[in-house]
Amino acid sequence: MSKCPIMTATNGSPIPDNQNSLTAGPRGPLLAQDWQLFEKHASFNRERIPERVVHAKGSGAYGKLTITSDISKYTKAKVFEVGKETECFLRFSTVAGEKGAADAERDVRGFAVKFYTEEGNWDIVGNNTPVFFIRDPYKFMDFIHSQKRDPKTNLRSGTAQWDFWSQSPEALHQITILMSDRGQPATYRHMNGYGSHTYSLINDEGERYWVKFHFKTEQGHKTNTNDQVAEIIGSDRESHQEDLFNAIESGEFPKWKLKVQIMSEEEAEKTSYNPFDLTKVWPHSEFPLIEVGTLELNRNPENYFAEVEQAAFTPANMVPGIGHSPDKVLQMRILSYGDAQRYRIGANHQHLPVNAARCPVHNYQRDGAMRFDGNGGGSVNYEPNSFDGPIEDASAKEPPIKISGDADRYDHRDGNDDFTQAGDLFRIMSKDEQNRLMDTIAGAIAGVPAEIANRQIEYFMKADVDYGLGIANRLDVS
Ligand code: NDP
Repeated sequence: MSKCPIMTATNGSPIPDNQNSLTAGPRGPLLAQDWQLFEKHASFNRERIPERVVHAKGSGAYGKLTITSDISKYTKAKVFEVGKETECFLRFSTVAGEKGAADAERDVRGFAVKFYTEEGNWDIVGNNTPVFFIRDPYKFMDFIHSQKRDPKTNLRSGTAQWDFWSQSPEALHQITILMSDRGQPATYRHMNGYGSHTYSLINDEGERYWVKFHFKTEQGHKTNTNDQVAEIIGSDRESHQEDLFNAIESGEFPKWKLKVQIMSEEEAEKTSYNPFDLTKVWPHSEFPLIEVGTLELNRNPENYFAEVEQAAFTPANMVPGIGHSPDKVLQMRILSYGDAQRYRIGANHQHLPVNAARCPVHNYQRDGAMRFDGNGGGSVNYEPNSFDGPIEDASAKEPPIKISGDADRYDHRDGNDDFTQAGDLFRIMSKDEQNRLMDTIAGAIAGVPAEIANRQIEYFMKADVDYGLGIANRLDVS
Protein backbone atom coordinates (compact mmCIF):
# COMPACT_ATOMS: atom_id res chain seq x y z
CA MET A 1 0.00 0.00 0.00
CA SER A 2 1.35 3.44 -0.95
CA LYS A 3 1.92 5.89 1.93
CA CYS A 4 1.21 8.87 -0.37
CA PRO A 5 -1.94 10.86 0.41
CA ILE A 6 -4.64 11.08 -2.23
CA MET A 7 -4.20 14.15 -4.42
CA THR A 8 -7.15 16.53 -4.26
CA ALA A 9 -8.37 19.76 -5.82
CA THR A 10 -8.47 22.71 -3.40
CA ASN A 11 -12.07 21.85 -2.55
CA GLY A 12 -10.75 18.56 -1.22
CA SER A 13 -12.19 16.25 -3.84
CA PRO A 14 -9.91 13.56 -5.27
CA ILE A 15 -8.15 14.13 -8.61
CA PRO A 16 -8.67 11.02 -10.74
CA ASP A 17 -6.13 11.93 -13.46
CA ASN A 18 -3.36 14.55 -13.24
CA GLN A 19 -1.81 13.66 -16.62
CA ASN A 20 -4.54 14.05 -19.27
CA SER A 21 -6.94 16.97 -19.69
CA LEU A 22 -10.59 16.39 -20.50
CA THR A 23 -11.14 16.60 -24.27
CA ALA A 24 -13.78 15.84 -26.87
CA GLY A 25 -12.04 12.92 -28.50
CA PRO A 26 -8.32 12.17 -28.21
CA ARG A 27 -7.34 15.12 -30.45
CA GLY A 28 -9.34 17.73 -28.46
CA PRO A 29 -10.53 20.45 -28.14
CA LEU A 30 -10.66 20.95 -24.38
CA LEU A 31 -13.93 20.87 -22.50
CA ALA A 32 -14.88 23.88 -20.39
CA GLN A 33 -16.05 21.53 -17.70
CA ASP A 34 -12.46 20.48 -16.91
CA TRP A 35 -12.49 22.67 -13.81
CA GLN A 36 -9.49 20.83 -12.36
CA LEU A 37 -7.36 21.87 -15.35
CA PHE A 38 -8.58 25.48 -15.12
CA GLU A 39 -8.06 25.68 -11.38
CA LYS A 40 -4.48 24.49 -11.81
CA HIS A 41 -3.78 27.20 -14.41
CA ALA A 42 -5.62 29.92 -12.50
CA SER A 43 -3.64 29.15 -9.35
CA PHE A 44 -0.38 29.21 -11.30
CA ASN A 45 -1.23 32.59 -12.87
CA ARG A 46 -1.58 34.04 -9.37
CA GLU A 47 1.55 32.57 -7.78
CA ARG A 48 3.45 35.87 -7.58
CA ILE A 49 2.69 38.73 -5.27
CA PRO A 50 4.20 42.16 -6.06
CA GLU A 51 7.90 42.06 -5.29
CA ARG A 52 9.14 44.62 -2.82
CA VAL A 53 10.15 47.86 -4.63
CA VAL A 54 13.34 47.75 -2.56
CA HIS A 55 14.88 44.77 -0.74
CA ALA A 56 13.20 42.43 -3.27
CA LYS A 57 15.71 39.58 -3.03
CA GLY A 58 16.01 38.07 0.42
CA SER A 59 16.99 35.12 2.57
CA GLY A 60 15.60 34.39 6.00
CA ALA A 61 15.92 32.18 9.04
CA TYR A 62 14.56 31.74 12.55
CA GLY A 63 16.63 32.00 15.68
CA LYS A 64 16.69 33.34 19.20
CA LEU A 65 17.89 36.38 21.10
CA THR A 66 19.46 35.56 24.48
CA ILE A 67 20.03 38.39 26.93
CA THR A 68 23.29 38.21 28.87
CA SER A 69 23.63 41.69 30.47
CA ASP A 70 21.34 43.79 32.59
CA ILE A 71 20.13 47.02 30.98
CA SER A 72 17.03 47.36 33.18
CA LYS A 73 18.17 50.84 34.25
CA TYR A 74 17.42 51.92 30.67
CA THR A 75 14.44 49.76 29.71
CA LYS A 76 11.56 47.84 31.21
CA ALA A 77 11.06 45.78 28.01
CA LYS A 78 10.68 42.14 29.06
CA VAL A 79 12.64 41.03 26.01
CA PHE A 80 15.71 42.52 27.75
CA GLU A 81 15.43 40.60 31.05
CA VAL A 82 18.71 38.82 31.80
CA GLY A 83 18.55 35.18 30.73
CA LYS A 84 15.48 35.71 28.55
CA GLU A 85 15.37 33.84 25.24
CA THR A 86 13.09 35.24 22.55
CA GLU A 87 12.34 33.61 19.23
CA CYS A 88 13.06 35.77 16.20
CA PHE A 89 13.02 35.74 12.40
CA LEU A 90 15.72 37.56 10.42
CA ARG A 91 15.44 38.48 6.74
CA PHE A 92 18.59 39.54 4.91
CA SER A 93 18.34 41.18 1.50
CA THR A 94 20.01 43.12 -1.22
CA VAL A 95 18.37 46.50 -1.79
CA ALA A 96 18.50 47.93 -5.29
CA GLY A 97 18.24 44.82 -7.47
CA GLU A 98 15.09 42.93 -8.33
CA LYS A 99 14.16 39.46 -7.11
CA GLY A 100 16.58 37.95 -9.62
CA ALA A 101 19.53 40.09 -8.51
CA ALA A 102 22.79 38.32 -7.69
CA ASP A 103 23.41 38.01 -3.95
CA ALA A 104 27.08 38.97 -4.20
CA GLU A 105 26.54 42.34 -5.96
CA ARG A 106 27.82 45.56 -4.43
CA ASP A 107 24.87 46.90 -2.46
CA VAL A 108 23.69 47.72 1.02
CA ARG A 109 22.21 44.62 2.71
CA GLY A 110 18.93 44.61 4.62
CA PHE A 111 19.05 43.16 8.15
CA ALA A 112 15.42 42.99 9.34
CA VAL A 113 14.62 41.18 12.57
CA LYS A 114 11.25 40.37 14.08
CA PHE A 115 11.39 39.45 17.77
CA TYR A 116 8.29 37.52 18.89
CA THR A 117 8.34 38.92 22.44
CA GLU A 118 5.84 38.06 25.15
CA GLU A 119 4.63 41.67 24.95
CA GLY A 120 4.12 41.70 21.18
CA ASN A 121 6.27 41.71 18.08
CA TRP A 122 9.22 44.08 18.03
CA ASP A 123 10.79 44.69 14.60
CA ILE A 124 14.16 46.26 13.86
CA VAL A 125 14.19 46.90 10.13
CA GLY A 126 17.88 47.57 9.77
CA ASN A 127 20.75 47.37 7.32
CA ASN A 128 24.37 46.25 7.40
CA THR A 129 25.32 49.93 7.56
CA PRO A 130 24.91 52.29 10.53
CA VAL A 131 23.79 55.23 8.34
CA PHE A 132 21.76 55.88 5.18
CA PHE A 133 21.90 57.98 2.00
CA ILE A 134 19.19 60.48 2.95
CA ARG A 135 18.04 62.22 6.09
CA ASP A 136 14.69 63.53 4.85
CA PRO A 137 12.18 60.87 3.71
CA TYR A 138 10.87 63.35 1.11
CA LYS A 139 13.92 62.33 -0.95
CA PHE A 140 13.56 58.54 -0.67
CA MET A 141 11.62 57.96 -3.89
CA ASP A 142 14.00 60.19 -5.87
CA PHE A 143 16.98 58.37 -4.41
CA ILE A 144 15.59 54.93 -5.26
CA HIS A 145 14.58 56.01 -8.79
CA SER A 146 18.17 57.14 -9.35
CA GLN A 147 19.43 53.67 -8.36
CA LYS A 148 16.90 51.64 -10.33
CA ARG A 149 16.45 51.28 -14.08
CA ASP A 150 16.41 54.21 -16.51
CA PRO A 151 12.85 54.71 -17.81
CA LYS A 152 13.97 54.58 -21.45
CA THR A 153 16.94 52.24 -21.63
CA ASN A 154 15.79 49.96 -18.79
CA LEU A 155 19.44 49.91 -17.69
CA ARG A 156 20.91 50.94 -14.34
CA SER A 157 22.49 54.34 -14.86
CA GLY A 158 25.72 55.58 -13.29
CA THR A 159 24.82 59.06 -14.48
CA ALA A 160 21.50 59.02 -12.59
CA GLN A 161 23.17 57.64 -9.46
CA TRP A 162 25.94 60.23 -9.32
CA ASP A 163 23.65 63.02 -10.50
CA PHE A 164 21.45 62.45 -7.45
CA TRP A 165 24.35 61.83 -5.04
CA SER A 166 26.35 64.83 -6.25
CA GLN A 167 23.40 67.03 -5.32
CA SER A 168 22.83 65.26 -2.00
CA PRO A 169 25.96 65.74 0.11
CA GLU A 170 24.31 63.88 3.00
CA ALA A 171 24.78 60.66 0.98
CA LEU A 172 28.59 60.87 1.18
CA HIS A 173 28.97 58.89 4.41
CA GLN A 174 26.88 55.97 3.15
CA ILE A 175 28.52 56.10 -0.31
CA THR A 176 31.87 55.65 1.45
CA ILE A 177 30.59 52.52 3.22
CA LEU A 178 28.87 51.15 0.09
CA MET A 179 31.97 51.58 -2.06
CA SER A 180 34.30 50.20 0.63
CA ASP A 181 35.13 46.52 1.14
CA ARG A 182 31.99 46.19 3.26
CA GLY A 183 29.80 46.93 0.22
CA GLN A 184 30.48 43.38 -0.91
CA PRO A 185 30.06 41.05 2.09
CA ALA A 186 31.18 37.50 1.30
CA THR A 187 28.05 36.11 2.98
CA TYR A 188 25.17 37.33 5.10
CA ARG A 189 26.88 35.69 8.09
CA HIS A 190 30.04 37.75 7.77
CA MET A 191 28.61 41.23 8.21
CA ASN A 192 27.19 43.41 10.97
CA GLY A 193 23.61 44.57 11.30
CA TYR A 194 22.57 47.98 12.56
CA GLY A 195 19.23 49.41 13.66
CA SER A 196 20.64 52.57 12.04
CA HIS A 197 17.92 54.88 13.43
CA THR A 198 17.94 56.28 16.91
CA TYR A 199 15.23 54.66 19.02
CA SER A 200 14.07 55.09 22.64
CA LEU A 201 14.47 52.88 25.65
CA ILE A 202 12.05 53.58 28.51
CA ASN A 203 12.60 52.33 32.05
CA ASP A 204 10.29 51.53 34.94
CA GLU A 205 10.56 55.11 36.21
CA GLY A 206 9.20 56.38 32.90
CA GLU A 207 12.60 57.83 31.90
CA ARG A 208 13.55 57.86 28.23
CA TYR A 209 17.05 57.17 26.87
CA TRP A 210 18.01 57.36 23.20
CA VAL A 211 19.52 54.16 21.84
CA LYS A 212 21.27 52.77 18.76
CA PHE A 213 21.24 49.00 18.16
CA HIS A 214 24.26 47.16 16.72
CA PHE A 215 24.51 43.47 15.79
CA LYS A 216 28.21 42.57 15.54
CA THR A 217 29.04 39.46 13.57
CA GLU A 218 30.67 36.67 15.57
CA GLN A 219 31.84 35.06 12.33
CA GLY A 220 34.19 37.98 11.65
CA HIS A 221 34.03 40.29 8.64
CA LYS A 222 34.62 38.66 5.29
CA THR A 223 34.26 40.58 2.04
CA ASN A 224 34.76 39.92 -1.66
CA THR A 225 36.93 42.00 -3.98
CA ASN A 226 35.47 43.34 -7.24
CA ASP A 227 37.21 40.55 -9.17
CA GLN A 228 35.88 37.88 -6.85
CA VAL A 229 32.34 39.25 -7.16
CA ALA A 230 32.56 39.23 -10.96
CA GLU A 231 33.64 35.61 -10.84
CA ILE A 232 31.00 34.53 -8.30
CA ILE A 233 28.15 36.26 -10.12
CA GLY A 234 29.24 34.64 -13.37
CA SER A 235 28.42 31.22 -11.96
CA ASP A 236 26.15 31.73 -8.96
CA ARG A 237 23.44 34.30 -8.34
CA GLU A 238 22.32 32.72 -5.05
CA SER A 239 25.64 32.59 -3.20
CA HIS A 240 24.36 34.19 0.04
CA GLN A 241 21.13 32.16 0.13
CA GLU A 242 23.12 28.98 -0.36
CA ASP A 243 25.68 29.88 2.30
CA LEU A 244 23.07 30.80 4.91
CA PHE A 245 20.83 27.81 4.25
CA ASN A 246 23.68 25.31 4.25
CA ALA A 247 25.36 26.74 7.34
CA ILE A 248 22.15 26.46 9.36
CA GLU A 249 21.28 23.07 7.88
CA SER A 250 24.68 21.70 8.93
CA GLY A 251 24.34 23.06 12.48
CA GLU A 252 26.83 25.88 12.01
CA PHE A 253 24.56 28.51 13.55
CA PRO A 254 25.60 32.10 12.83
CA LYS A 255 25.68 34.50 15.77
CA TRP A 256 25.77 38.23 16.34
CA LYS A 257 26.42 40.11 19.59
CA LEU A 258 23.67 42.63 20.26
CA LYS A 259 25.17 45.87 21.56
CA VAL A 260 23.63 49.25 22.29
CA GLN A 261 24.82 52.83 22.51
CA ILE A 262 22.90 54.93 25.01
CA MET A 263 22.47 58.71 25.03
CA SER A 264 20.52 60.62 27.68
CA GLU A 265 17.98 63.26 26.69
CA GLU A 266 20.28 65.91 28.19
CA GLU A 267 23.29 64.68 26.18
CA ALA A 268 21.20 64.79 22.99
CA GLU A 269 20.84 68.54 23.46
CA LYS A 270 24.62 68.98 23.40
CA THR A 271 26.05 66.86 20.56
CA SER A 272 27.64 68.82 17.70
CA TYR A 273 25.56 66.72 15.27
CA ASN A 274 21.85 65.95 15.31
CA PRO A 275 21.64 62.54 17.04
CA PHE A 276 18.41 61.83 15.12
CA ASP A 277 20.07 62.34 11.74
CA LEU A 278 20.19 59.00 9.89
CA THR A 279 23.36 60.01 8.04
CA LYS A 280 25.36 60.22 11.29
CA VAL A 281 26.81 57.69 13.73
CA TRP A 282 27.41 58.32 17.40
CA PRO A 283 31.20 58.04 17.86
CA HIS A 284 32.09 55.05 20.02
CA SER A 285 34.54 57.13 22.07
CA GLU A 286 31.63 59.31 23.27
CA PHE A 287 28.94 56.63 23.38
CA PRO A 288 30.61 53.26 23.99
CA LEU A 289 29.01 50.00 22.95
CA ILE A 290 27.29 48.11 25.78
CA GLU A 291 26.89 44.38 25.24
CA VAL A 292 23.36 43.10 25.75
CA GLY A 293 23.08 39.59 24.37
CA THR A 294 23.49 37.17 21.49
CA LEU A 295 21.37 36.64 18.42
CA GLU A 296 21.66 33.16 16.91
CA LEU A 297 20.04 31.80 13.75
CA ASN A 298 19.30 28.10 14.07
CA ARG A 299 16.34 27.07 11.90
CA ASN A 300 15.66 27.33 8.20
CA PRO A 301 12.14 28.10 7.03
CA GLU A 302 10.22 25.11 5.66
CA ASN A 303 8.71 27.12 2.82
CA TYR A 304 10.42 30.09 1.21
CA PHE A 305 7.28 31.83 -0.07
CA ALA A 306 5.22 31.41 3.10
CA GLU A 307 7.93 32.46 5.49
CA VAL A 308 10.47 34.67 3.66
CA GLU A 309 8.51 36.23 0.81
CA GLN A 310 5.51 36.87 3.05
CA ALA A 311 7.56 38.08 6.00
CA ALA A 312 6.46 41.65 6.67
CA PHE A 313 8.49 43.97 8.86
CA THR A 314 7.69 47.44 10.08
CA PRO A 315 9.42 49.76 12.52
CA ALA A 316 5.90 50.52 13.78
CA ASN A 317 6.06 47.20 15.66
CA MET A 318 7.16 48.27 19.13
CA VAL A 319 6.72 46.91 22.64
CA PRO A 320 6.57 48.62 26.06
CA GLY A 321 10.03 49.82 27.08
CA ILE A 322 11.18 50.47 23.49
CA GLY A 323 10.03 53.42 21.39
CA HIS A 324 10.70 55.68 18.44
CA SER A 325 12.61 58.95 18.08
CA PRO A 326 12.21 62.19 16.13
CA ASP A 327 14.38 60.78 13.27
CA LYS A 328 12.41 61.96 10.23
CA VAL A 329 13.19 58.92 8.13
CA LEU A 330 12.12 56.58 10.94
CA GLN A 331 8.89 58.52 11.35
CA MET A 332 8.02 58.07 7.68
CA ARG A 333 8.99 54.39 7.73
CA ILE A 334 6.57 53.84 10.64
CA LEU A 335 3.81 54.65 8.13
CA SER A 336 5.22 53.45 4.84
CA TYR A 337 6.31 49.91 5.80
CA GLY A 338 2.86 48.77 6.91
CA ASP A 339 1.40 50.54 3.90
CA ALA A 340 3.72 48.63 1.55
CA GLN A 341 2.80 45.29 3.15
CA ARG A 342 -0.93 46.02 2.96
CA TYR A 343 -0.46 46.58 -0.78
CA ARG A 344 1.93 43.66 -1.29
CA ILE A 345 0.32 40.99 0.90
CA GLY A 346 -2.97 42.38 2.16
CA ALA A 347 -4.80 44.02 5.04
CA ASN A 348 -4.47 40.91 7.22
CA HIS A 349 -0.79 40.19 6.61
CA GLN A 350 -0.04 40.37 10.34
CA HIS A 351 -2.10 37.20 10.87
CA LEU A 352 0.13 35.07 8.62
CA PRO A 353 2.13 32.58 10.71
CA VAL A 354 5.55 34.21 10.12
CA ASN A 355 4.16 37.64 11.03
CA ALA A 356 1.74 36.73 13.81
CA ALA A 357 2.54 37.67 17.40
CA ARG A 358 3.23 34.70 19.65
CA CYS A 359 1.40 36.41 22.53
CA PRO A 360 -2.39 36.86 22.61
CA VAL A 361 -3.76 39.63 20.35
CA HIS A 362 -7.06 41.28 21.35
CA ASN A 363 -8.50 44.28 19.57
CA TYR A 364 -11.53 45.49 17.62
CA GLN A 365 -10.10 45.26 14.12
CA ARG A 366 -12.22 42.94 11.97
CA ASP A 367 -12.83 41.70 8.42
CA GLY A 368 -10.83 42.64 5.31
CA ALA A 369 -9.62 40.50 2.44
CA MET A 370 -8.40 37.00 3.37
CA ARG A 371 -9.28 37.22 7.06
CA PHE A 372 -8.41 33.58 7.68
CA ASP A 373 -8.38 33.38 11.47
CA GLY A 374 -11.63 33.31 13.45
CA ASN A 375 -12.08 37.09 12.88
CA GLY A 376 -12.90 37.59 16.54
CA GLY A 377 -15.77 35.09 16.37
CA GLY A 378 -18.89 36.43 18.05
CA SER A 379 -17.02 38.73 20.44
CA VAL A 380 -17.92 42.39 20.74
CA ASN A 381 -16.40 44.54 17.96
CA TYR A 382 -16.61 48.08 19.38
CA GLU A 383 -15.16 49.86 22.38
CA PRO A 384 -16.21 51.06 24.94
CA ASN A 385 -18.62 48.20 25.57
CA SER A 386 -20.36 46.47 28.44
CA PHE A 387 -19.46 42.93 27.37
CA ASP A 388 -15.98 42.29 28.76
CA GLY A 389 -14.16 43.30 25.58
CA PRO A 390 -10.41 44.06 25.78
CA ILE A 391 -9.49 47.24 27.64
CA GLU A 392 -6.50 49.58 27.39
CA ASP A 393 -3.45 49.31 29.67
CA ALA A 394 -2.24 52.73 30.83
CA SER A 395 1.05 51.24 32.07
CA ALA A 396 2.15 50.87 28.43
CA LYS A 397 1.94 54.65 27.91
CA GLU A 398 5.23 56.28 26.90
CA PRO A 399 6.61 59.36 28.64
CA PRO A 400 6.14 62.54 26.61
CA ILE A 401 8.79 63.67 24.11
CA LYS A 402 9.56 67.38 24.36
CA ILE A 403 8.96 69.01 20.98
CA SER A 404 9.15 72.68 20.04
CA GLY A 405 9.47 74.76 16.90
CA ASP A 406 7.39 76.41 14.23
CA ALA A 407 5.99 74.20 11.47
CA ASP A 408 8.00 74.87 8.34
CA ARG A 409 10.00 73.12 5.61
CA TYR A 410 13.46 73.53 7.11
CA ASP A 411 16.48 73.14 4.81
CA HIS A 412 18.01 69.97 6.22
CA ARG A 413 21.34 70.74 4.51
CA ASP A 414 21.64 74.16 6.10
CA GLY A 415 24.64 74.11 8.48
CA ASN A 416 24.86 70.31 8.45
CA ASP A 417 28.34 68.78 8.38
CA ASP A 418 28.12 65.97 5.83
CA PHE A 419 31.86 65.50 5.52
CA THR A 420 33.58 64.90 8.88
CA GLN A 421 32.16 61.44 9.58
CA ALA A 422 32.70 60.27 5.99
CA GLY A 423 36.29 61.47 6.36
CA ASP A 424 36.60 59.71 9.75
CA LEU A 425 35.68 56.45 8.07
CA PHE A 426 38.19 57.01 5.28
CA ARG A 427 40.87 57.72 7.89
CA ILE A 428 40.29 54.50 9.88
CA MET A 429 40.76 52.41 6.73
CA SER A 430 44.12 50.82 5.92
CA LYS A 431 45.99 52.23 2.92
CA ASP A 432 45.05 49.13 0.92
CA GLU A 433 41.39 49.51 1.77
CA GLN A 434 41.50 53.21 0.91
CA ASN A 435 42.98 52.32 -2.47
CA ARG A 436 40.32 49.70 -3.19
CA LEU A 437 37.65 52.23 -2.16
CA MET A 438 39.01 54.92 -4.47
CA ASP A 439 39.48 52.42 -7.34
CA THR A 440 35.85 51.34 -6.99
CA ILE A 441 34.52 54.89 -6.85
CA ALA A 442 36.63 56.02 -9.81
CA GLY A 443 35.47 52.98 -11.78
CA ALA A 444 31.84 53.79 -10.99
CA ILE A 445 32.17 57.50 -11.85
CA ALA A 446 34.14 56.99 -15.08
CA GLY A 447 31.91 57.87 -18.04
CA VAL A 448 29.59 60.10 -16.02
CA PRO A 449 29.30 63.69 -17.41
CA ALA A 450 32.19 65.85 -16.13
CA GLU A 451 29.92 68.40 -14.44
CA ILE A 452 28.43 65.65 -12.25
CA ALA A 453 31.78 63.98 -11.56
CA ASN A 454 33.37 67.28 -10.53
CA ARG A 455 30.50 68.14 -8.21
CA GLN A 456 30.93 64.77 -6.50
CA ILE A 457 34.73 64.96 -6.30
CA GLU A 458 34.39 68.21 -4.35
CA TYR A 459 32.54 66.29 -1.63
CA PHE A 460 35.25 63.63 -1.40
CA MET A 461 37.78 66.45 -1.18
CA LYS A 462 35.87 68.04 1.71
CA ALA A 463 35.77 64.71 3.58
CA ASP A 464 39.54 64.21 3.23
CA VAL A 465 41.93 65.80 0.77
CA ASP A 466 43.63 62.44 0.11
CA TYR A 467 40.23 60.89 -0.60
CA GLY A 468 39.30 63.61 -3.12
CA LEU A 469 42.73 63.76 -4.75
CA GLY A 470 42.96 59.96 -5.00
CA ILE A 471 39.72 59.80 -6.94
CA ALA A 472 40.47 62.90 -9.04
CA ASN A 473 43.87 61.46 -10.05
CA ARG A 474 42.35 58.13 -10.99
CA LEU A 475 39.85 59.99 -13.21
CA ASP A 476 42.50 62.33 -14.64
CA VAL A 477 40.65 65.34 -13.28
CA SER A 478 42.91 68.24 -12.32
P1 NDP B 1 35.71 53.64 15.95
O1 NDP B 1 37.10 53.45 15.48
O2 NDP B 1 35.40 53.50 17.39
O3 NDP B 1 34.75 52.64 15.20
C1 NDP B 1 34.91 52.40 13.85
C2 NDP B 1 33.80 51.50 13.39
O4 NDP B 1 33.93 51.42 12.00
C3 NDP B 1 33.80 50.11 13.92
O5 NDP B 1 32.49 49.88 14.42
C4 NDP B 1 34.04 49.23 12.71
O6 NDP B 1 33.20 48.13 12.72
C5 NDP B 1 33.59 50.13 11.60
N1 NDP B 1 34.21 49.95 10.29
C6 NDP B 1 35.47 49.67 9.98
N2 NDP B 1 35.61 49.64 8.62
C7 NDP B 1 34.41 49.93 8.11
C8 NDP B 1 33.92 50.05 6.79
N3 NDP B 1 34.68 49.89 5.74
N4 NDP B 1 32.64 50.35 6.62
C9 NDP B 1 31.83 50.54 7.70
N5 NDP B 1 32.25 50.43 8.96
C10 NDP B 1 33.52 50.13 9.15
O7 NDP B 1 35.29 55.05 15.38
P2 NDP B 1 34.03 56.03 15.56
O8 NDP B 1 32.95 55.48 16.40
O9 NDP B 1 34.56 57.33 15.94
O10 NDP B 1 33.55 56.10 14.06
C11 NDP B 1 34.45 56.43 13.02
C12 NDP B 1 33.80 56.08 11.75
O11 NDP B 1 33.54 54.67 11.76
C13 NDP B 1 32.42 56.72 11.58
O12 NDP B 1 32.50 57.96 10.96
C14 NDP B 1 31.68 55.71 10.78
O13 NDP B 1 31.85 55.97 9.41
C15 NDP B 1 32.34 54.39 11.11
N6 NDP B 1 31.46 53.58 11.95
C16 NDP B 1 31.07 54.03 13.17
C17 NDP B 1 30.12 53.36 13.88
C18 NDP B 1 29.59 53.91 15.14
O14 NDP B 1 28.49 53.49 15.54
N7 NDP B 1 30.31 54.79 15.82
C19 NDP B 1 29.53 52.11 13.39
C20 NDP B 1 30.10 51.66 12.13
C21 NDP B 1 30.98 52.42 11.44
P3 NDP B 1 33.59 46.71 13.33
O15 NDP B 1 33.79 46.93 14.78
O16 NDP B 1 32.45 45.85 13.07
O17 NDP B 1 34.84 46.27 12.60
